[in-house]
Amino acid sequence: MNTSPKNVESIFNPPPVHMVGDGFRVHNFIPGIPQLSMQRMDPFIMLDYNSRYYFPPTDNPRGVGVHPHRGFETVTIAYHGRIAHHDSHGHSGTIGEGEVQWMTAAGGVLHKEYHEREFSKLGGDFQMVQLWVNLPAANKMDKPSYQAITRDNIRQITLDNVRIELIAGRFREWTGPAKTHSEINMANVMMNADAELALEYPSTFNTCLLVIEGEITINDTHKAVANQLVLMKNDGESFVLKAQKNSIVLVLSAEPIKEPIAAHGPFVMNSRAELIQAFEDFQDGKFGALED
Ligand code: MN
Repeated sequence: MNTSPKNVESIFNPPPVHMVGDGFRVHNFIPGIPQLSMQRMDPFIMLDYNSRYYFPPTDNPRGVGVHPHRGFETVTIAYHGRIAHHDSHGHSGTIGEGEVQWMTAAGGVLHKEYHEREFSKLGGDFQMVQLWVNLPAANKMDKPSYQAITRDNIRQITLDNVRIELIAGRFREWTGPAKTHSEINMANVMMNADAELALEYPSTFNTCLLVIEGEITINDTHKAVANQLVLMKNDGESFVLKAQKNSIVLVLSAEPIKEPIAAHGPFVMNSRAELIQAFEDFQDGKFGALED
């Protein structure tokens, strides 16, 4: 296949932090930055990034209390620290360092998300990403489900001076473990200083890079450092990353769903009527029950 270069559109500094509950100190890139709207980044409709931050010890785990979701998936990626969650369907678990929880909220869940108890007691550095991935209209009211992407099932690919942890989609001949409802590529790329990696995605796919650690150049034209987000153009297929230091880069590239988006708070549907229905169902207790 003949490919043409995919160029950098913009590089964004992390926006000012805000707290989600008392446990998540996040920079909201999507949709907070006007150039990173839900429509532009479709199907990535929300990206909150807790850059590396020290939380002191506490006996009362910090976090966010019971809240609903409907119409999309939440993908939580832990880099430092551990996150515990409980939901209204009796499901609970812990997301450890290097692990990912892919929660398909779909028709609706109530859940709460906290720093894991032992991590809270000791305190420590906390760094994580929460992404919301939109669902096609046909799947918005599916039964909720979970995929735990752990050290055991994440796809590890080792190349010269580069290690890839493939979460979803493809890299060359490899595929990631996450089952998705549209074509989504998601990977953490660990590069040693001076390593180089060529990546290729269809030009129509919305593509961005979040630098978790280190410093990289993209196509030899742009430099990005830790905590910056690189938005790629939809002009071509291939681009090259070079690491100036040991670096970790979260790579996201997905096919846009191209359906209408009606979003309000924790609900992302296709129409205003469906949003109102979501609020009514929530008020009527149809998302189940969960104690705070
Ligand atoms: Mn949530």
